[in-house]
Amino acid sequence: MIVEQLPEAVRSHVREAKRQGRIVGCVPTMGALHDGHCSLIEQARRDCDFVVGTIFVNPTQFGPGEDFSRYPRTLEADLDRCRAAGADLVFTPAASVMYQDDADTVVVPGQLATVLEGAIRPGHFSGVTTVVTKLFGITEPDVAFFGQKDFQQQLIIRRMVRDLNLAVRIVTCPIIRESDGLAMSSRNRYLTETERAVAGDIHQALREAIRLADCGECSAAEVALQMRRRLERSGQLQVQYAVVANPETLEEYQTEERGIEAVALIAVQLGSTRLIDNALLRFG
Ligand code: AMP
Repeated sequence: MIVEQLPEAVRSHVREAKRQGRIVGCVPTMGALHDGHCSLIEQARRDCDFVVGTIFVNPTQFGPGEDFSRYPRTLEADLDRCRAAGADLVFTPAASVMYQDDADTVVVPGQLATVLEGAIRPGHFSGVTTVVTKLFGITEPDVAFFGQKDFQQQLIIRRMVRDLNLAVRIVTCPIIRESDGLAMSSRNRYLTETERAVAGDIHQALREAIRLADCGECSAAEVALQMRRRLERSGQLQVQYAVVANPETLEEYQTEERGIEAVALIAVQLGSTRLIDNALLRFG
């Protein structure tokens, strides 16, 4: 496995792979890799011939007071995981390489980035779309892999790729969970033992939403309310949102819905840690 820090070096490897007719896959990450990230690399390995992972804790997607400085950085272990999952090349740029002092251009997403995560974390998605565009420019992938875990993010990236005619296909991969259902996240390592013990409630709330929709409950507002109740039961999770929304537009469903797809989306604060999760539902 090749490890490179400079865009020009990455580009020359990728161009050589393409000259050989190989399909290039890219998996962008911020490191602190877990089995969720590895599942993306493994999917890229199955679908593509040349797999590029990127590890970059992107400063522009963190707001003031967020966890940029304490975000876990575990490069050596990450490279081992990339190797084991089948990456051919890993790009690990320094921030100074990604952002020149006089950088003057950003990619700003629209409506989809104003709700949910975008409402709570102003500027976050602009940081994401800008860095992802740069990573696509450097790694020139045919296919790029993102997790459903960050549902709004993959939707915004899909829209950006369509709107800007970027020549990359986006694949969204399923959420990988711990045995109690907690979605794997680099931030889970912030949790204390007592916090960790209730973090599984987030998945329980999503399961409750799926169960209600499966059992014929067709009021989206009622499903959202029951999710919130389940989250609040322990008294430890502070609910930022618990909504049932259109999976294309992220508009909250308010009325009785039948025969439609939906996404249940949750964000909670647990002590000093912010956690998000989601699940797809269908109102019968
Ligand atoms: P991050 O390092 O948090 O930026 O995540 C990098 C990629 O991994 C994103 O596309 C995430 O959606 C994806 N990802 C993070 N956690 C999981 C998980 N538990 N299951 C599947 N994909 C994940």
